[in-house]
This record gives sequence, structure tokens and C-alpha cells, in this order.
Amino acid sequence: MNYLKNIDNFDNIALVLYQKDDLRLEQWPLEDSLKSNECLLQAHSCGICGTDLTLWKKGFVADFVVKNPYVLGHEPSAVVIAVGNDVTHLKPGDRVAVEPAIPCLECEFCRSGRYNLCPISNQQSHGLPPADGCLRRYYVHRADFCYKLPENVSLEEGAIVEALAVVVHACRRVNVGIGHNVVVCGAGPVGIMSALCAKAFGANKVLITDIDKSRLDLAKELGIDEVIHIDINNFNDKQVAQTIKEQMSSDALGADVTIECTGVESSVCLAIYATKSGGKVGIVGLGGNPRIPLSCAAMREVDLIGVCRIKDDYQLAIKLISSGKLNVKPLITHKFRIEEAIDAFNLLKSGQQGVLKVLIQY
Ligand code: NAD
Ligand code: ZN
Repeated sequence: MNYLKNIDNFDNIALVLYQKDDLRLEQWPLEDSLKSNECLLQAHSCGICGTDLTLWKKGFVADFVVKNPYVLGHEPSAVVIAVGNDVTHLKPGDRVAVEPAIPCLECEFCRSGRYNLCPISNQQSHGLPPADGCLRRYYVHRADFCYKLPENVSLEEGAIVEALAVVVHACRRVNVGIGHNVVVCGAGPVGIMSALCAKAFGANKVLITDIDKSRLDLAKELGIDEVIHIDINNFNDKQVAQTIKEQMSSDALGADVTIECTGVESSVCLAIYATKSGGKVGIVGLGGNPRIPLSCAAMREVDLIGVCRIKDDYQLAIKLISSGKLNVKPLITHKFRIEEAIDAFNLLKSGQQGVLKVLIQY
């Protein structure tokens, strides 16, 4: 399908990561065909996440290594410009949240419903190297991974759906349920959303940690029950775990579930110690390969549960926003135009207080 003729003054400005510390704004070629199951999208907003920041600072995250220039961005919302012949659930003008996955739907993992583990998807998913992401004005994506936003959900909220879907997946993986006491380590956007999501899933008490007091203040304002400030210069994981246990409940047994959202070694250790025997720790934070008290986890049957992105969690994430059960608007603290995208990354790197979710907008 020749759709380019529909676009006047074609400009496909993109944010490209060449290698560690080397981000550039430049024009990027557009896919030259639209398959029958795809749609052409015009970017609206895209969140920057800790993973993007790590890729920029280190040149890799987990097993994803920047080898060739690629377009960043995997938390997008967009407007549909054109749809392939077989697409019936979307039409031009629809506003969508875009799930950046492109699973093969044929491998063992896809066939068993765990498409987030699909090795093909891991090589193709938008925004993780080597696959180009969504920080470009126009791009093509599989229509069945584009979710129409209800009228009462804005395109800015739409750009939060990806991160929220990750934490919905985390809460589902660790089975957060009614009456649970939940600890969340790290009050970044993912941690704060995990805490809010745990509340929405029926948790009794949710406690969140961070080294940054301003983030804990925001967590309190958003209704998270308890906060613990971590002083990294004076940190003893077992002692802090004991304080957390006492703060969580009078029996001081520990959290039913802990969701680790920092990837920092000392925090992963704390997560294990703060969890009740027989409880679960969801590993969301990514940061190298921390040394952890594995025997302690084994002898207390604390399950360490991996969390890999999203597995059919967009619909619930969108419902949580549209029903008002989870308000993501206060998490968006800064917005930048695409032309200022590098400033947005520098702001996040600076660690300035009061910065939480940063959106880049077209
Ligand atoms: P972020 O960097 O904004 O948040 C991390 C927070 O942890 C910060 O507020 C920081 O101050 C805090 N922190 C650092 N050291 C700490 C410590 N010792 N104790 C307590 N808090 C500490 O990042 P984010 O966007 O919120 O993402 C969180 C993590 O989740 C990142 O590691 C990211 O790569 C990961 N992530 C994983 C998946 C997945 O599928 N598993 C998906 C998205 C993001
Ligand atoms: Zn597959």
C-alpha cells in the first residue's frame, strides 16, 4: 500500500542512540510498505524509562546491547494514520496505546500464551536494541498490538499504559491479592505504579522505599500507606528489613509480596529479608547481576519471580486508568518536545528532585 503520498512535508525526526553516551536527533527512513495486519501511526507522546536511561548511560541493559544506531522509545501513544486491508478494529484518527512487542505467535512460548518470552519478539520489540522504537514521527506497527483508548483517557495517559502494563504483569506474576501486605523497593515511576497497582489489586498495606525523599513525598501524596527512606551511606539490609516488618504489621512477619523495582544489589537483598517466609519477591528492576542471599531465600521458601515486560496486560492497564481506579496523571512531571529530547534525557540523568515520568511529545 502506498501511504506516503498521504503525508505532506514528510518529516520523520527520530531520537537515535548510536552507542553509549551518544544520542542524536535525525531523520529516519519510514518502512516502505504496510502489511494487511499493520497500521501506520503518528507518534503523540512517549515516556522515557529507567531502561532507556541505562541504555544511554551504559550501552546495554540485561542482554540488550547497542551495537548499531537504533531509535529509542517503547512507551508510546499514537494516532492511527492508515490501516492495512485486514484491520477491522481500528480506523484512521483512532487514538491508541501501542504495545511495543512483535512476537512470532508460532514458537512454544507464544503458543502457550507467554509471548513476552518469545525469542523472536525479544529481537524485534520496538525500542530495545537492535529494533527501532517509537521515538519517530511515523512508524508502522502490528495493529493487534495497538489498543484504542477510551474517550476519557488522554494520549498522555496513553503513554503511561506501557509502564503500567509492566506493573500489572508484575502484580499478576506475584499474585498480589486482597489483604496482602506489599513492599515495593524503589519509588521511581515503575515502583510508584507497582504500589498503586497493588492497592488496586486489593492489597491491605503498601510500603515503598527509596533513597530520594522527594519521590517518597510524592508516593505519600498519592496514597501509598508507608514510606521508608533508605540511607545508602548507613545501610544494613537486615536492620532495615526488621524496621519494615515492624512497620508493616504487629506480628512483624514481613511482606506477603515484595516487588523489587531498583535492580540495585542492596535493595534486592533487602527485598528478600523483608519478605515473609513462604512469600514472593517479584524481580522487576534490571541492573546487572546482584549477589543475593540465596540460601536465606531457599530456607524460608521465599520465591524469586522473574517479571519480563508484558503479557496481555494492556487491556487491564487501560481499564484501571479509564475507571479512575488508578490515577496516572500526577506521575507525569515533565514534558518535552521531540526537538528537546536530549534535554529530557539530561534532566533524568541529573537526578533533579521532583522529576518522575518524563514524556517526549510530537
Ligand atoms: P527509576 O530509575 O526512575 O527508578 C528507580 C528508583 O530506585 C529511583 O527512584 C531510585 O532513587 C531508587 N533507588 C536506587 N537505589 C535504591 C536503593 N538502594 N533503595 C531504594 N531505592 C533505590 O526507574 P523506573 O523507570 O522506575 O524503572 C525501575 C526499574 O525497572 C529499572 O531497573 C528498569 O530497568 C526496570 N524495568 C523492568 C522491566 C521488566 O520488564 N522487568 C520493565 C520496565 C522497567
Ligand atoms: Zn514466539
